Order: sequence, then structure tokens, then C-alpha cells
Amino acid sequence: MPPALLSPGYFTAPVDQIDPVIAQAIAREKTRTRDVIELIASENILSRAVRDVQGSILTNKTVEGYPGKRYHAGAVNVDVVESAAIERACQLFGCRFANVQSHSGSQANHAVLHAVAEPGETILSMNLNAGGHLSHGASANFSSKWFNIVSYGVRAEDGLIDYDEVIALARKHKPKLVIAGGSAYPRALDFAAFRRAADAGGARLLVDMAHFAGLVAGGAHESPFPHADIVTTTTYKSLRGPRGAIILWNDEALRKRINNAVFPGLQGTPSLQIVAAKAVALGEALRPEFARYAQAVLSNARTLASCLRQHGFDLVGGGTDTPLMLVDLRAKGLTGAPAAQSLERAGIIANMNPIPSDTVDLKVMSGLRFGVSGATTRGLDGAHFDRIGALIAEVLEGLRQHPDDNRDVEDRVRAAVREIVAPFPTYG
Ligand SMILES: *Cc1c(COP(=O)(O)O)cnc(C)c1O
Repeated sequence: MPPALLSPGYFTAPVDQIDPVIAQAIAREKTRTRDVIELIASENILSRAVRDVQGSILTNKTVEGYPGKRYHAGAVNVDVVESAAIERACQLFGCRFANVQSHSGSQANHAVLHAVAEPGETILSMNLNAGGHLSHGASANFSSKWFNIVSYGVRAEDGLIDYDEVIALARKHKPKLVIAGGSAYPRALDFAAFRRAADAGGARLLVDMAHFAGLVAGGAHESPFPHADIVTTTTYKSLRGPRGAIILWNDEALRKRINNAVFPGLQGTPSLQIVAAKAVALGEALRPEFARYAQAVLSNARTLASCLRQHGFDLVGGGTDTPLMLVDLRAKGLTGAPAAQSLERAGIIANMNPIPSDTVDLKVMSGLRFGVSGATTRGLDGAHFDRIGALIAEVLEGLRQHPDDNRDVEDRVRAAVREIVAPFPTYG
């Protein structure tokens, strides 16, 4: 017999029999996430169905193009999948067109830039320092190298967008595109004011609703339509789907331009198992439970925000209308990196974040960002978030008093955290 081409169990053995290094890391990740409160704003906990579909045999199929117009044969079943994802996205967000192939939020935004502007043309977007996103024209991102980026920030006094400034900048610079939305802006955006800005400059308006898309889907946040020409969102944050993004719009004149910008403009084959998982997640978001989930996310975010304020923390923008909030640590004499590390040792997982016009080193930063989408999926409610706010305050107060060794407080809080999450198992 010639030597085998495939290792034993190639088609049948689970990963723990094939690759102990990776299997063990996954097992440890299960334990880690079981015992902590996850407050990373971009994370969520997916349903079993959405997870399963990502490991389905659709991962083996490749196609190029769109349903009904593929370059590869054998696309009959994946056409059903992608068509369902498109239809559900349009139904959920009340628009006519959707592209569901972008591998990430950044790529979806790049596709929109590619669709509506030529290299060298002007884009008006929120500064990264003020809470914008890398893909909106940050200096390290390709978007700033290809386009002329003009940016707006937030007011120093209250951390809010100055819409008169946005409108004046649009009038002055005549951008091709105005971008609304960011990664660390906690308050509701005034979509009508952004529309006025776009109109003042003769621009199209893109709303990137990555963080609050789940709230829009569940009716807990105003929809960017009809004000926006184009809406992008990641699917994995409050929308609770797989890694990736979708692009939504209404104008027939943009249909070819956006679809061509995604493929063949920026991507080749889509990840069909991910497109399928997007379809399942969008189907879940159309159910009445999801509207209740969205309300709970907003209410939990507001509870945590007001609890932190009661404990004397400054919140950028004064609070939140979204799943996330941004704490300015300067008044407490703390910085982001050690605060996030101490919280992690106490079982509370969050990320350091710059605050608007941060002057502290980017490796340290002056802020902490908290989001409640994942912990709300896990089952935590307002009473829990009141308690969590108090525990965060306890850790940070301990750190202020004992910057070099906060172990006593961390150990005490870690035990309290375990007690809070123990009644809320996830996948079993
Ligand atoms: C998270 C996020 C993205 C995208 O991210 P990827 O990491 O590329 O998926 C884009 N825009 C905003 C506003 C975001 O918050």
C-alpha cells in the first residue's frame, strides 16, 4: 500500500485529537470567559446556531460574484444562503439594497470610499482621537493615504459633536463623502444634522453604525435611514453575528458601484460560511426576543454609566445612548493601561481607550471603554450592572491608593465577579 495522503481521522476526528496546542487554548478560553465579566465593547456571545454555521461545509465552497451571477459552478445552495442574508438585512434595517460579503468593517468602509470617491478627493470624517474609526481616514490607515481627509472632533467642554462645525467644514471643503459614526462615541448621532452637512457640501452621507447596529435592529436607537445614503456595520458587535460586515443603501444608482467596489474592487471570494452565519444572525435579530435584548442592552449601558458617575467618574459625553461608554480617568489620577490590567486581574475585562484629545502616550491612554452587549446576552440585568459599577469603582479606587500592588482588592473583587456570573452559564 502506498503511504496515506490523509492523516487518520481526517474527515471525522475533532480538533482535540488532531491538534492539542490549539484544542487546549480553546479549552482554556472557555474557562477564562466562564469566570469573568466581559465588557469589551466590540464583543458579544453568539448563538449555537450562528457558531455552528461558521464551521459548516460551506467553508469548502468558493464562488465569485453575486447570487445568480457567479463565475464558479455549483453555486445553487450558496445562492440561497446569500440571497437570504441580503433579504433579511434589507427587511431588518428597512432599505432596498444590501451587500453581505465584506470580511470586516474596515473593508466595508473601504469599499464605500472606493464606490463614491476617486483617489485624492476629500472625505469629511470624525478624528480618530475624538472617537472615530481607523478606516475613516486615520493617518496610519490606507484611507488617509488615498484620500484627502478633513476631520471634525468633539467639543472639549462636553465631549459632544459640534454639528455647526461639521456643517461649516462640509460647506468649506466640499467633500465627496461625509462619514458619521465611530468606535468610542457613546451618544446618539444627530443623523438629520449630518444630512444637512452632507447637503451643504454636495456630499453623500455614510453612517457607520458598527457599535449600535443591534440597537437600531431592535428599535432601541433611531435608524440612520432615511438620512443616510449608505450605512455600514460590523455584524459581530451588538448585532450579535459572525465576524464581518454588511453595507446597506437605497439608491439604485449606487447598486453596481457598491457591489463592484466589494467584488472585484477589494475582495475575491466571499466567506460563504460567514455569509450563512450573517443570515442566521440577521434572522435572529428579526425575532421579538431581539427587540427585548436591544432594550436591555441600552438600559444596562445606562445603568452602568450612571453608577460609574455616582462613584465620581467622568464619562465622555456625559453618559450613553449606545451599548458603550468611555470613562475619562484623568480626574482620578489614573491612566488606561494599568487600570485595564488591574480590572483584568479582578475578572473584569475592558479596554484602555484614548479620550478626546488625549495627551497621554498611546501605549497607556487616559480612558477606559466599557460595553455591555456580551454581558447582556449572558443574562446580566440592571441590578448586576449596578453591582459591577461598584466593583469597577472599588478596583480603581484601590489602584489609586496602591498603584504598585492592588492585589487585595483584585482578589476580593474577583471572588465577587465569579459569584455574579456563576448562575449564567453559556454553552454548557
Ligand atoms: C469596529 C468598527 C469597525 C470595524 O472593524 P473591523 O475590525 O475592521 O471589523 C468599523 N467602524 C467602526 C465605527 C467600528 O466601531
